[in-house]
Amino acid sequence: MVFFYPSGIGVKAKIAVNGYGTIGKRVTDAINSQPDMEVVGATKTRPTFEAKLANLRGVPLYAAAKEFVSRFEDAGLEIQGTLDDLLPQADLIIDCTPKTAGYKETYQKAGVKAIWQGGEKHDLTGVSFNSMANYNDCYGAQFVRVVSCNTTGLLRTLYPLYTEYGIDNVLAVMIRRSADPWDTQRGPINAIEPVLKVPSHHGPDVQSVVPDINIQTTAVKVPTTIMHMHSVVAELNKKVSSDDVIDLWKATPRIIFVWGSDGIRSTAQIMEYAKDLCRERGDLFEIAVWEDGVHVVGKKLYYYQAIHQESDVIPENVDCIRAMLELEEDKLKSMEMTDKYMGVC
Ligand code: NAD
Repeated sequence: MVFFYPSGIGVKAKIAVNGYGTIGKRVTDAINSQPDMEVVGATKTRPTFEAKLANLRGVPLYAAAKEFVSRFEDAGLEIQGTLDDLLPQADLIIDCTPKTAGYKETYQKAGVKAIWQGGEKHDLTGVSFNSMANYNDCYGAQFVRVVSCNTTGLLRTLYPLYTEYGIDNVLAVMIRRSADPWDTQRGPINAIEPVLKVPSHHGPDVQSVVPDINIQTTAVKVPTTIMHMHSVVAELNKKVSSDDVIDLWKATPRIIFVWGSDGIRSTAQIMEYAKDLCRERGDLFEIAVWEDGVHVVGKKLYYYQAIHQESDVIPENVDCIRAMLELEEDKLKSMEMTDKYMGVC
């Protein structure tokens, strides 16, 4: 297969999306914004408002399995078939179903490459992805997992520190949103809940991409639906100033700076800022670091960063497609193309 390149030769890579939910609908839009790939169909289990909007947006809609077809028929919502009809059309499928939905065997049988999301365990694929840290490890791979929103956030800022200065150790506290904004089922809504398993899974998850980063994490759930926050303390191998670190991150894709002195004192103002950027859905694909919260004491670096959980992994999914389908060898070129067409800063 000759895929489309920016020169215009060949065809676009054909991508299917299994699970058109929070991540699935964003991945679909991001893929369709790119010049070298397109979504050939997305699945749903139910004819929800998201399924209806998919139809309105011209995304070919499929039932995730035969037993769900009647739900769409009863609702009078047009579908193009089932996942079994969609898979043969795709070069790669992005699985955005809730964790452990269990489609690996189906994809294997169909002989289609697949990407899973961070809710899955590393063992499912044996390869976990972050664009900056290990694009090349996933080049041509059959099955890959894009790490979670928190792990993506940690890797975005830690990986450049690791390559530029070396890291002795990292302690990071994940202050986690309880539920996504649409989700009325999960809590807590009036409590702060520590994750008693220590270290939390986020540290080992960072190591599933860069095994040499010595990191321990803890996590606390707080009653908000807006973003995660990380409080990070990284002991570097070199003495550097906070300006050195800020300059390094300014030269790194997908990190933006915010300032308390500008009135951005919390995640609420960051999300307002994202809406003012006029992005679709008010998404913030970049990791937001408080510039006036970056401090160095000796070799210890302290900083705070905020993660828009619904959207930071989306550019990584696009790059992961390029790596797995061998559309672009150079990670920086892929990231540049992804960011250009998604409007990432
Ligand atoms: P979601 O619940 O918003 O969407 C899941 C979609 O899958 C829904 O459209 C649902 O109808 C569909 N679905 C459910 N069961 C299915 C099945 N058996 N077959 C096919 N489709 C099915 O979930 P989400 O938040 O998009 O999460 C998807 C994955 O992304 C998970 O691994 C999650 O951990 C990961 N992730 C989520 C976030 C986040 O903050 N929401 C961030 C990063 C990664």
